[in-house]
Amino acid sequence: MVVAYRPVTIAFAAAAVLLSALVCAPVGADDEDISLTDTVDRLDLDFYWDPYSESGLLQRGNVSVRFVTRFGRSVVSYRDTVTHGGVTRREGELFIPATFQRYLEELFPPPEERFERTIAAIYIDAGHGGRDPGAIGVLPSANGPVQITEKSLVLDVAVQLGTLLERRFPAKEIVLSRSEDVYLTLEERTVIANGIDIERNETVIFVSVHANASLNSAARGFEVWFLPPEVRRTNLVTADRVGVDDPAVLSIINTIREEEITLESVLLARNVLAGIDTAIGGESPNRGVKEESWYVVRNAKMPSILVEIGFVTNPDELALLTNAEYLSRLVDGIFDGIVSFVENFEQVGTDE
Ligand SMILES: [Zn+2]
Repeated sequence: MVVAYRPVTIAFAAAAVLLSALVCAPVGADDEDISLTDTVDRLDLDFYWDPYSESGLLQRGNVSVRFVTRFGRSVVSYRDTVTHGGVTRREGELFIPATFQRYLEELFPPPEERFERTIAAIYIDAGHGGRDPGAIGVLPSANGPVQITEKSLVLDVAVQLGTLLERRFPAKEIVLSRSEDVYLTLEERTVIANGIDIERNETVIFVSVHANASLNSAARGFEVWFLPPEVRRTNLVTADRVGVDDPAVLSIINTIREEEITLESVLLARNVLAGIDTAIGGESPNRGVKEESWYVVRNAKMPSILVEIGFVTNPDELALLTNAEYLSRLVDGIFDGIVSFVENFEQVGTDE
């Protein structure tokens, strides 16, 4: 939550006019005082306080309660007034009557009762497979050069990542696009992801894993891609999903969802990039977060990223990627990034 102790610039004269003009919802005054700061924390409200006018504002979203300590009433969302016996100030602390606190609880349901989105599933897509090897690198060995394929490296990463995530999030569904060397079209990969059964307040996150190739054998490093908003498809939300069939309303909801998904994809990309950087940044260059219209990410109706774990065409990087210890640290990095994204998204165990 945010508590911003700064002066309120709203005209309290207008509020005073409303106080006298509007319907009063009485709240008993003869009860014990409760700390306003505790209430603000518990209900996760924004709180503005002006010590000079002794006036304050409690707010969440578009609902607000304005008060002046000496008045026994507050104005709610510029419309209604509530009579509560006043906000009192003792030794620099503000107190409210218990009945006023109960009124605030009804007005601002506690965070745990609010409609919140959770991540129900994590979809891990190992790129390529079967007859599609993806990028191919050549590793020198005592018995001559050995071909290393992107499809086998990324499968190894996906399977390890899936195991870690299953252990960390037993309540979430961890879905792999493939757990063996099979061919899947790009469309099949997104169909699986979009087909994961979720409730209205749940989402899936989509992590596609690839390895890079370049004609320039010096190119190396890891990078994470997300989809820029302008290429995102618009029909994310369908009528049956939200229970609204007005096309104009659906269009607005879709725009909001698109912005949300883009923002979430960027945050997921940054978290994963930082995780990888912490794990192996000393050995492989961080090429940053990038935007691209990858098909596999574009058609996923959920926060989606594509991780490029390194270049198989760079002999030094290929030697690292084929080293089991290095690869498992790389997986740990992707895992840490996903975990921090999920924890922030679901606000697990924090007061923030
Ligand atoms: Zn690839």
